[in-house]
Amino acid sequence: MQLTLPLPELAQLAFGASPSPSHRIYCNRSLRLDQIEWVGFDMDYTLAIYDQREMDRLSIEATLDKLTQRGYPESLKSATYRTDFPIRGLLVDRKLGNVLKMDRYKYVKRAYHGLAELSKESRRHDYHTRRLRVASARYHWVDTLYALSEVAVYAAAIEHLEKLGQEVDYDRLFGDVRECIDLSHQDGSILDHILADLPRYVQRDPSLPRTLHHLRSAGKKLFLLTNSHGPYSDRMMSFLLDGGLPQYRSWRGYFDLVVCASRKPRFFTSDVEFEELLADGTKRPLEGGVPKVERGRLYLGGSIERLQTALNTTPDRVLYVGDHIYGDVLRAKKETAWRTIMVVQEMSDELSAHGEVEHSLARLDSLEEQRLRLLEELRDHQVVLKALERRKASKKELPPADEAERVRHRHAVDRLKQRIRLAEREHDELERGVDHRFHRFWGSLFKAGPEVSSFGHQVETYACLYTSRVSNLLRYSPMHYFTSPRDRMPHELR
Ligand SMILES: [Mg+2]
Repeated sequence: MQLTLPLPELAQLAFGASPSPSHRIYCNRSLRLDQIEWVGFDMDYTLAIYDQREMDRLSIEATLDKLTQRGYPESLKSATYRTDFPIRGLLVDRKLGNVLKMDRYKYVKRAYHGLAELSKESRRHDYHTRRLRVASARYHWVDTLYALSEVAVYAAAIEHLEKLGQEVDYDRLFGDVRECIDLSHQDGSILDHILADLPRYVQRDPSLPRTLHHLRSAGKKLFLLTNSHGPYSDRMMSFLLDGGLPQYRSWRGYFDLVVCASRKPRFFTSDVEFEELLADGTKRPLEGGVPKVERGRLYLGGSIERLQTALNTTPDRVLYVGDHIYGDVLRAKKETAWRTIMVVQEMSDELSAHGEVEHSLARLDSLEEQRLRLLEELRDHQVVLKALERRKASKKELPPADEAERVRHRHAVDRLKQRIRLAEREHDELERGVDHRFHRFWGSLFKAGPEVSSFGHQVETYACLYTSRVSNLLRYSPMHYFTSPRDRMPHELR
């Protein structure tokens, strides 16, 4: 007998072996795909994977033009810009001109001024002796791939200007860099270049059309929700999807609802009416400000409430896929009950680094264990030794048996200190090597030493699932049941 609706388990079996690590979808919170009715997608850095190097180069050139127009020295253009310096999840300290990486407890684990790493002492002086108010205007989160070039420019400009002997107003410089990049986006200096040569700036994923079709053929409806404006989105989506599958005449056929210029994260918090963008470029207000679920139309603006009315289902049956921790994932989680997938493009590199250092990570764990054991032993000897030495100091001399005991403990203390030093040295060298394999300036994106990084923590807290690219969904049945690893508190670990 043929089953018309396969059970989730059977559907999973049909998809066979688990995908390779870089094609896998990782699960923080359990999610049943068979319960999802609508799947929504962000466009930039989610469906459209930009070439980071080309994008950085483009943004940096555009920014430098504008900075020099504002009176910064022309020689800035000849400075070296390390686009491999910034990663997501960093925090810019606009007051001191430093860039920081923190762990999940907002403890600063690494810091750079320009491209020079801050010593442990100055890190402690600047950041560890008081609580960091990361939400204040002094600090700026780097939470998108698009913002990485800002950090590359900021760090290099500080280094360059200070070498010239100029006194730098770090706060103003950062404000200028940000404004110049924003202006370059608004006045078309960046977007026009991208549209003029899409294959150079955007990687076309050949599996994307099949992935969307795979979801649609399982009865799911799809929507696009992007901040990019209508004409740009139209060109980009054509580039990504048109000609991909014979069943679809244009990219619009894949989506039951298309929303551009959505102004996320504001989209999630304020009430704005949708408008329709007509083919002649004019806008038309809509009855009730709510869009119609009808393929081929393109809407602008709007808000989560009105979109939810159009989707005509409960928010927990909507799965939204985005790359922006704040604009896509965090707000979706805080303002609605939408389920989320976060696209973390950097995961492929992160996973291959992880594969290579697995042995070293195990060795680090055992070194740490060894160090703790030795420290405990050391403390035991120190307690006895101190008592004997105090006695000796008050009585001038100890009876011979006690004196022998004192010497024995003294030697044990010296020996243990030496072994601890060796273990620590090996640990530090190994850890440096591991960090360097992940990223030469910052180490792993998701970890800060043994702790989860602040970026990793946000992914863990706000994304139900995370993966390196949208087309990884093709490797899973549309009925797949993603299950999270069991959460364990320290008292549950043996
Ligand atoms: Mg995006």
